Amino acid sequence: MSGLAIDGKTDILGLIDVQPTFMPGGELPVAGGASVVEPINRLLAGPFATAFATQDWHPRGHISFASSHGLPAFAEIAAPYGPQTLWPDHAVQGSANAALHPSIVQDRIAVIVRKGMQAAVDSYSAFFENDRTTPTGLDGWLRNRGVRRLFLCGLATDFCVAWSAEDAATLGYAVFVVDDACRGIALPTADGSDSITRARERLAVRGVRFTTTAALTS
Ligand SMILES: [Zn+2]
Repeated sequence: MSGLAIDGKTDILGLIDVQPTFMPGGELPVAGGASVVEPINRLLAGPFATAFATQDWHPRGHISFASSHGLPAFAEIAAPYGPQTLWPDHAVQGSANAALHPSIVQDRIAVIVRKGMQAAVDSYSAFFENDRTTPTGLDGWLRNRGVRRLFLCGLATDFCVAWSAEDAATLGYAVFVVDDACRGIALPTADGSDSITRARERLAVRGVRFTTTAALTS
């Protein structure tokens, strides 16, 4: 793959949910989740002048918690806004595991968007809650700064990264997913595939491109 020159003014790195709650030892661990920290720090020390970060940030009793419904984790319910996968309690507001990973170098992180704060609506995407209409405000922030290309990394590839990438593409940004700085959950899908494969297919259709940390240069 040939190199991709990063423009410090119009390109931004987006850290999606780089929180210990999604890493081994956390409440909703993604396999290999902690291994995104090192490549992300390399990008934050290198080509990107600015980054934003999201934090999953749920109140107790959140609609996405299986425990709120007396159902097993990974079951699906029909929420008023559509199907909602249920998860183990995770990213509880104020808990140590809901903070940004302590090893992430935050100097270039200009804004942190917290999502999933409403008890009755989950929020995978950095841009919209899962009703797909309530905005987080991130789009306005990026537009005001003249950002045109987003490079997304973090957890999990097939949920919060994928939904963010999809919404960003719909909003008109050029979107790249930095593969080696992401890890996914890979839930089995009804058709015998898995959620990472399906997410990649969906993103490709939207024109989202996949890249690696090695390809990104100043
Ligand atoms: Zn969550």
